[in-house]
Amino acid sequence: MTRTISEPARETPVAHETDVLVVGSGPGGLSAAIAAARSGVRVALLERFGCFGGNVTVVGVEGFAWYRHEQTVEAGGIGREFEERAKEMGAAVPESQSLSYELDSEGFKLVADRLVEEAGIHPMLHRQFVAPIMNGNSIEGVIVESKAGREAVLAKRVIDATGDADVAHRAGAPTIKTPLEDMQAASVMFHLAGVDKQAFLQGVKDNPQTYKDWENSTWHMETDGKEDEMFSPFLGKPFDQAIKDGVIPAELKTIGGTWGAVHDSGELTYMNLIHLNECDGTDPESLTKFEMEGRRQTLAAIDVLRKYTPGCEDARLRNFGMSIGIRDTRKIDASYNMTEEDVRYEGRFEDSIGIYPEFIDGYGILILPTTGRYMHIPYRSLLPKKIENLLVAGRAIGGDKISHAATRNMSCCAVTGQGAGVAAALSVKQDTPLTDVNVSAVQQELSRQDVRVH
Ligand SMILES: Cc1cc2nc3c(=O)[nH]c(=O)nc-3n(C[C@H](O)[C@H](O)[C@H](O)COP(=O)(O)OP(=O)(O)OC[C@H]3O[C@@H](n4cnc5c(N)ncnc54)[C@H](O)[C@@H]3O)c2cc1C
Repeated sequence: MTRTISEPARETPVAHETDVLVVGSGPGGLSAAIAAARSGVRVALLERFGCFGGNVTVVGVEGFAWYRHEQTVEAGGIGREFEERAKEMGAAVPESQSLSYELDSEGFKLVADRLVEEAGIHPMLHRQFVAPIMNGNSIEGVIVESKAGREAVLAKRVIDATGDADVAHRAGAPTIKTPLEDMQAASVMFHLAGVDKQAFLQGVKDNPQTYKDWENSTWHMETDGKEDEMFSPFLGKPFDQAIKDGVIPAELKTIGGTWGAVHDSGELTYMNLIHLNECDGTDPESLTKFEMEGRRQTLAAIDVLRKYTPGCEDARLRNFGMSIGIRDTRKIDASYNMTEEDVRYEGRFEDSIGIYPEFIDGYGILILPTTGRYMHIPYRSLLPKKIENLLVAGRAIGGDKISHAATRNMSCCAVTGQGAGVAAALSVKQDTPLTDVNVSAVQQELSRQDVRVH
């Protein structure tokens, strides 16, 4: 049994009071806060790090819409606005495999600041959620910790957009954590400088890779078949060769994956090559171990790229993401849990808060939305059981394993965020519990905010 101590009871100062409090500012939380503010209520956005943007800015995940092809049908809304604003502000470049723009993880910090300011959101960076403030089964705010010590933030509605369902879990809502052996791998993300762009792109042209190349000794990929011959910015061969040549040990066969964008300045960014199995993103011991292991593997990966990849001979590490990237931890057991069938066969729901294209990426499946097929995302998948005044947005919404391979994607997190923000705002304005919120009014407001709901 873990040894424990007792802490004395204490008076905690209230740092802020608001209508809607959003905890976590990734694609889910940022969209939720903007949508709620645009629906006319007071909003605060709380974030443990020094920038908004979540995995985009903290981890360096830049491929926001790499699934988009000519026939892809999407929700639009704030997710699309992220890309458009990033383009306008010089914080996006054309993405190599799709009709989309890749976000610049540094530039997007400024895009997010601008969107937060314009929406009139109360920004609260550098505060970590540590405990809910409960009145029976109702959440009434949160306790945060920061350089200022322990503080309370009170709110009429709380949106948990922590990715890990931290708030829902601590409030006592039932959550489900993927078993460690099934969890999607974590990644330490890195960006390079000193790459010869022309030589690199010539190498890509001379040795074109497809999604079929994702299938190798470590990854088994199920596709629809239509993906197999399509171009993918995949880097696998250099690492296979390096193992054959004894440059890196065979145990590092998990290294390999995709590159993001190559810039005129010689930066090669969003290097999604390091895959760390059995990392538990809710356990700081595990996070510590894999942050360090991920950095060690990155150096080995860069060594291989220098030796085996045209244009990378003089490459050097520009930076790591601020934090290891976690794909998979807790999800809520929601009022409705999405299913594999919903995401594979165009699920339709009366309480849809936005559509999402048939894009499934995870747990060994890759299906790209090249056909115009799409699903509805139901409001009930954001509603945790047991706890009132709380919604969940982003990758921790309710659903089975394969449904998460679709809903975890950043642009889907933006759909659930915008839906959560609007629903929370209307529930405050109409003084109605979140379970009884008028769904057609939510859908109307979402349409007004440029979301395709059906
Ligand atoms: C390596 C990697 C590569 C990926 N590649 C892609 C890709 O190419 N395309 C794609 O669409 N998706 C990709 N994903 C998935 C996608 O990035 C995530 O599923 C998505 O960002 C989840 O969004 P979110 O808003 O739910 O959470 P996050 O983006 O994780 O944001 C959560 C935010 O909450 C904050 N937070 C967490 N806990 C607390 C707390 N206790 N107190 C205060 N703040 C807190 C965090 O600091 C963070 O800012 C990738 C994921 C990883 C890890």
